[in-house]
Amino acid sequence: MSINILYAGNPKRWDVYQHEISKAIEEIEIEATLSCDLPADQVDYIIYDPNSALQDFTPFTRAKAVLGLWAGVERIVYNPTLTQPYARMVDQGLSEGMTEWVVGHVLRHHLEMDLDIHNTDPAWGRLAPPLARDRRVGILGLGELGRVAAKALTNLNFPVSGWSRGAKSIDGVTCLHGDDGLEQVLRCSDILVLLLPATKATENVLNAERIAMLPEGAVIINPGRGPLIDDVALLEALDRGHVGHATLDVFRVEPLPDDDPYWAHPNVTVTPHIASDTRPDTAAKVIAENIRRGESKEPFLHLVDKKAGY
Ligand code: NDP
Repeated sequence: MSINILYAGNPKRWDVYQHEISKAIEEIEIEATLSCDLPADQVDYIIYDPNSALQDFTPFTRAKAVLGLWAGVERIVYNPTLTQPYARMVDQGLSEGMTEWVVGHVLRHHLEMDLDIHNTDPAWGRLAPPLARDRRVGILGLGELGRVAAKALTNLNFPVSGWSRGAKSIDGVTCLHGDDGLEQVLRCSDILVLLLPATKATENVLNAERIAMLPEGAVIINPGRGPLIDDVALLEALDRGHVGHATLDVFRVEPLPDDDPYWAHPNVTVTPHIASDTRPDTAAKVIAENIRRGESKEPFLHLVDKKAGY
């Protein structure tokens, strides 16, 4: 029997996704029609981009699952019409991309690269930066992305501590949880990386009180989500120099409005939500595997806990 798969993703990426998903579906030997235009009550699976115009899932009475193309789920998880299971994207390409971005920005600050990139008159004789073993990195969020980034940083000799909701064990990483655990991580983060999801529980997790727990001059790198940070508190801490620099990839409003104070702040780097992206070739395999599971009545991978919001 043939199944129907609706692509509700970015139309600009339809060609590449059509090619990669068709190939991956062929490999699992399932007969399927993949289209951006199908009658709702005939759809078995929806491949979904949370930016898509599709917001009402009620007509999709036959859909066995909605298969997200994004790792982040805050735009969809609270949608009351979403009664179908929602599997988010956990993709090797996405993880590799995030690790490269995080390591790159950690190294920028660790090696004080800006001193030479922006300075045409370098100070001969200045001390070399400390070794990685003497620069402490904290990671809030030890999920699919935080865990891999933490491992890459420990492989470079950075002492890494991380924080998650539940208890975790990652070789070479000091894993903590709970309020005390958060304080412990913050107090020993010369560089702090945010890789938490945006949920009701994580909103403003980095507030004034918690920013004050960071060592003087700490660097904050946020590729997680904008609402994790109390922006007013961060700007105030940057002005005082308590936070030495913030590299921000995500914001409450995107694109970041022209008049946002982050643009003008000398100690802020704004990047346009570019830390990592789903890679169609690897993501197509994840989607096909979930369709295979759905058709063999096996549990889906990467299901979102709608109550926890991630
Ligand atoms: P996961 O769901 O795999 O991991 C989330 C982590 O956050 C887990 O360790 C989880 O704890 C922890 N967490 C969640 N809620 C809390 C809480 N209340 N207190 C403490 N810890 C908490 O997500 P991913 O690693 O795949 O992705 C993380 C985020 O990265 C995404 O949600 C998205 O916002 C962002 N992202 C950004 C991109 C970009 O280009 N800027 C690209 C892709 C993703 P536990 O392990 O105990 O469940």
